[in-house]
Amino acid sequence: MDTQSFELEVVDVVEETADAHSITLALPEVDAEHFGYRPGQFLTVAVPSDQTGVAARCYSLSSSPVGGGPLTITVKRTADGYASNWICDHVREGDTLRVLPPSGIFTPASLSADLLLFAGGSGITPVISITRTALQQGTGRIVLFYANRDERSVIFAEELTRLAAEHPDRLMVVHWLESVQGLPSAEQMKAFASAYQSYDAFVCGPAPFMKMTVSVLKELGFPRERRHQEKFISLGGNPFGDLHDVEVAEHEIEVAQTDPDEVTEVVDGDEPQPQGPVHLEVELDGEQHVFDDWAPGTKLLDHLEAKGVKAPYSCREGECSACAIRLLEGEVKMLHNDVLDDDDLADGIRLGCQAVPVTDTVKVTYS
Ligand SMILES: Cc1cc2nc3c(=O)[nH]c(=O)nc-3n(C[C@H](O)[C@H](O)[C@H](O)COP(=O)(O)OP(=O)(O)OC[C@H]3O[C@@H](n4cnc5c(N)ncnc54)[C@H](O)[C@@H]3O)c2cc1C
Repeated sequence: MDTQSFELEVVDVVEETADAHSITLALPEVDAEHFGYRPGQFLTVAVPSDQTGVAARCYSLSSSPVGGGPLTITVKRTADGYASNWICDHVREGDTLRVLPPSGIFTPASLSADLLLFAGGSGITPVISITRTALQQGTGRIVLFYANRDERSVIFAEELTRLAAEHPDRLMVVHWLESVQGLPSAEQMKAFASAYQSYDAFVCGPAPFMKMTVSVLKELGFPRERRHQEKFISLGGNPFGDLHDVEVAEHEIEVAQTDPDEVTEVVDGDEPQPQGPVHLEVELDGEQHVFDDWAPGTKLLDHLEAKGVKAPYSCREGECSACAIRLLEGEVKMLHNDVLDDDDLADGIRLGCQAVPVTDTVKVTYS
């Protein structure tokens, strides 16, 4: 049974550039409480497919949560991509889209912090939400470095000009156009970022842009807690509908058949498994859930779902961070991890969809 997805009505579609559409979705009347979000978070959208039933894709919210208005995602066509082109070609006002509630950890801890934002192309989507929200609710300075191929591909150009004019003391936008300046080099980025070394940095864009920017930030000594990145990958799994049930069932069968000592994809050390059921405490949405029967080899998300706890997730494959937890006590190991880096792991962050227990007691929080 599909318990977490919602059908939202499309109330507006705006062609931002030749290849990017903003889709605005009405908040559902009954389930509006599921759609509170923080700037920088994303929705997971079910795109219909003749081949697979559904192609699940994440799209960051470009809207701001301030004022509780409708939700907007901004989708840029990917060359030869399936879902982004389907959305831009087919989604029109009056349609409905099936989505999972907002999730993700690419969001400032404080909206009043000074923010150094790096966006490349469609990477502007979570960044404009952070900018809009921080300008309304925060007090810090915001410096946005925004790289694009050429002037015509700049999404939200007019709004950024307006916001910068309205907040000259708080917002500075630096446009970098490949057509004019070529690709930014590491030296240029370093020279730029070095003026803002005390700011909280957020980076989102094409993989090479992010890799270079993050490595520049590391070189400049930005500590882990002030260095954030959002990777725009396509999900391989399908967190929607019946296929989800099938996956959970398949996983349970797999766990039952697998000798724990033969699990080889461990990315978090090679610790032994507990011999018996594990004591688990989970903080989620202000509630404390306590269990004494978390079975070794069972993933945290699967255990919580079996207990009726609606924990967040999206890909279920260790490829996004929608299910991120922070360890408070004990240890888990992840069977697969494509998204957390060494710094995240050192900070105690793990993926709930891939975490199996290592110690007899595990305490985690989703906040
Ligand atoms: C946290 C997060 C936030 C993101 N935010 C944004 C955003 O704000 N804006 C944005 O534009 N992008 C965003 N993305 C990227 C987005 O999720 C997609 O990765 C992107 O749109 C490319 O998807 P695509 O299907 O068009 O392309 P691809 O994923 O490259 O399409 C090719 C894939 O589709 C499969 N495929 C081909 N035909 C079919 C078919 N008929 N049925 C099913 N599958 C098929 C192929 O097997 C192949 O795997 C975000 C990603 C993440 C993880």
